[in-house]
Amino acid sequence: HQLYDVVIIGGGPIGLACGLEAQKKGLRYVILEKGCLVNSIYNYPANMTFFSTSDRLEVGGVPFVSNNAKPTRSEALEYYRRVAMSYRLNIRLFEKVEAIEDHTQSIEAIEHRQYLVRTSKASYLTANVVIAIGFYDTPNLMYIPGEDLPKVTHYYQEPHFYAGMNVLVVGANNSSVDAALETYRKGANVTMVIRAGEIGRRVKYWVKPDIENRIAEGSIKAYFHSNLTEIRETEVDIQTPDGLVTIPNDFVVAATGYQPNFDFLTGSGIVLSDDEKRYPSYDPENQESNKPGVYLAGVVCGGMDTHVWFIENSRIHAEKIIEKISAERLAVNA
Ligand code: FAD
Repeated sequence: HQLYDVVIIGGGPIGLACGLEAQKKGLRYVILEKGCLVNSIYNYPANMTFFSTSDRLEVGGVPFVSNNAKPTRSEALEYYRRVAMSYRLNIRLFEKVEAIEDHTQSIEAIEHRQYLVRTSKASYLTANVVIAIGFYDTPNLMYIPGEDLPKVTHYYQEPHFYAGMNVLVVGANNSSVDAALETYRKGANVTMVIRAGEIGRRVKYWVKPDIENRIAEGSIKAYFHSNLTEIRETEVDIQTPDGLVTIPNDFVVAATGYQPNFDFLTGSGIVLSDDEKRYPSYDPENQESNKPGVYLAGVVCGGMDTHVWFIENSRIHAEKIIEKISAERLAVNA
């Protein structure tokens, strides 16, 4: 086994940022990604526009040029691919990390710290691990009958598919609003089920009036203060303030949000807060978790609060982490 200075788990924007920093510092590193390059962004809705301006999505100081101030998904794919390829980042794709095993003999001595990172294809011995796995792999479930029917999706892609059909969109945040407006404009009959009394406050400011006006004029039907209670092949039940409503339905877009893979975190020895937020424990100074040499980077840090961290405010994690690992390595070699 070659001994790495750092194994980075996740080839999203923040995993790439960590790889760029590690490369700058001359560390022996590898990025392991279970899907394609920037897999989460690849799986976003096809026509999605970022809420961030392109300069705030930059990693490693590489300029991100986009046609408009807010880039699209395809521009982001283009950018992160060019960054990864032109810097020849050492990244292994379609290789899923299954476990991080602690093979440390003495936690006091950094030079003896060893983790074995096991993947679907190989295993890697390393002194440090960065967990940058994001939150896009585990949707928040509604726990209602019919949720597992094939007509239900947590990963809305593209509107044409829904033309002429009865579509129910659950939720009132960016993903739900984008899906409702797009499918409505491609000729779907759209109904929204919204737990709260209004459209979410974080909805992109240039999109919010559009959805509010479509609801006000009745083009899109919205049930506020309501919950979806059952999904069947051809209809759905909605609990509304005026009682239970049953409407015809062909497809459900459940934009109920996502959560980090908590089993992976706890399985790796990361302690979570015991409230409903399940914040993973780490030192905000340097992102090191309760496990020495195991770091947390990017949006995974927010636990259930998935809107707290985004690219703009978490790309700094890369510098902090690699700075510490690099300083430790210099100290060991001195
Ligand atoms: P991710 O991009 O999710 O990367 C994590 C990677 O880890 C994934 O590629 C995943 O496949 C991989 N992975 C997971 N588990 C394993 C494993 N066991 N082994 C190997 N690899 C693994 N943020 C913004 O800053 N601006 C925006 O405008 C914005 N818009 C968004 C729109 C949508 C629809 C969504 C869902 C999110 C948006 N976000 C936005 C949040 C955005 O997802 C994150 O900011 C960004 O992707 C986080 O980067 P990350 O590297 O932390 O995580």
